[in-house]
Amino acid sequence: SALFGPSRRNSGGLDLSSPAVLAQLDLALAAVATPERSAPIVDGRERENQAAKPVLDPADHRRVVGEVVDASPADVEAALASARAAFPAWDDLGGEARASILERAADRLEADRARFMALAIREAGKTIPDALSEVREAVDFLRFYAAEARARFSQPVRLPGPVGESNELMLGGRGVFACISPWNFPLAIFVGQVAAALAAGNAVVAKPAPQTPLMAAAAVRLLHQAGVPPQALHLVPGGPAIGEALTVNPLVDAIAFTGSTATARHINRLRAAMDGPLAPLIAETGGLNAMIVDSSALPEQVVADCLESAFRSAGQRCSALRVAFIQREAWTRIQPLLAGAMAELSLGDPALLSTDVGPVIDEASRRRLLAHGGRLRHAGRMIGQSACPPDCRVGTFFAPMAHQLDNLDLLQSEVFGPILHVIPWEAGRLEQVLDCVAATSYGLTLGIHSRIDATIAQVIARARIGNIYVNRTMIGAVVGSQPFGGLGLSGTGAKAGGPNTLIRYGVERCLSVNT
Ligand code: GLU
Repeated sequence: SALFGPSRRNSGGLDLSSPAVLAQLDLALAAVATPERSAPIVDGRERENQAAKPVLDPADHRRVVGEVVDASPADVEAALASARAAFPAWDDLGGEARASILERAADRLEADRARFMALAIREAGKTIPDALSEVREAVDFLRFYAAEARARFSQPVRLPGPVGESNELMLGGRGVFACISPWNFPLAIFVGQVAAALAAGNAVVAKPAPQTPLMAAAAVRLLHQAGVPPQALHLVPGGPAIGEALTVNPLVDAIAFTGSTATARHINRLRAAMDGPLAPLIAETGGLNAMIVDSSALPEQVVADCLESAFRSAGQRCSALRVAFIQREAWTRIQPLLAGAMAELSLGDPALLSTDVGPVIDEASRRRLLAHGGRLRHAGRMIGQSACPPDCRVGTFFAPMAHQLDNLDLLQSEVFGPILHVIPWEAGRLEQVLDCVAATSYGLTLGIHSRIDATIAQVIARARIGNIYVNRTMIGAVVGSQPFGGLGLSGTGAKAGGPNTLIRYGVERCLSVNT
């Protein structure tokens, strides 16, 4: 259809070598010095009821980026009650009208790109290229789900039946969606969940991650200005207590969650123990993502793709490469290249264009990585490590590292940061490698590097993985082209940004009339 054909375009990039573009970004970065604010936004009003906490720059904890007022349980209740009352009118508005509003939001976000990039750099420690792709992805989600709503949520679908009977399938919203999003894509995933839920006709109460409430508040204000009724979209910043208050509230009809597998289980348990609606959970969770490299692969390309997949965004993507299974002969050639390339990675201030890797999100995350790094040092063989900047103690920096291991014993769950594990394998033992990947029970992303078609086909046939990437990087799924999301421990689906996403955010009603 035209929707997936050449007429649908993803948002444009920026020329980061242009002095004018960089000057605009500098201005936006300077403007962040005026502290940003996040607070519960209920019915469009920003609550002032509690003490504000500072939001610090992960690259430099001396810099206060803004302040956040966490929601109270009463805010959650008020937001949900208002959303419930607003749902029928928003649903009745129809896919066409909702699409126009979301497209207006996309245009405004694209126009205000420098400001949102600056916030992503300061609040989440994103590098400049990452900040740009963050904003582009959010714009893409808005336009993509708008187009989906227009195509599928505007008119009932006529279905066949005998003479004298008309059958129609009508798509609409479920009711009130709770959207719970992560800090690693504080704009893209926040906006993606909210846009999908709104496009399908739901009212939304959204809880951003406690590390990144500022971008979420800026996005909600923008959506309201674009025409989303304030009663149909509310923001409740806060930590796990607010997430739980949302989860166990019977006014919630469905939950969209992106975060850890453990938290998704917790949400399921809480919901299972209560009497409210049988609320579906759309969960996008973790991964223990592998790349399988055979001896026919091009070493230079493998190194470039490993670096990008394991260390870009400081490894803080759930799609990121964690374990590279590399056939022994190839590994002999790749190892020195990988070590050399890692030594060249520049870790530091994400606001500098020369920086490859910024900070990790917070001290708790850095400590978890340090603990895992300590176990690896004890057990494995260090292959390479990047250097820390001299003033790295001002922020939560963790230098990318790679270790060689014999098996996955030390890696039973996701390690969320710039640590690459390499396990060499012997010729003829590909099936054992595939057993090992399957045994993790995760199924998010998989990379294959090979020039042998039969090997590629063998891997694809066995892999129960949501996103498989052949002879390229394994991160950076593009909305509409690479619907993103995993199987098994990695999530429930629906994939984000795909042709089957919106239906999972909605309900179907069938109307049969004897004419
Ligand atoms: N969609 C992102 C990518 O492909 C990852 C999303 C996530 O980390 O949750 O890189």
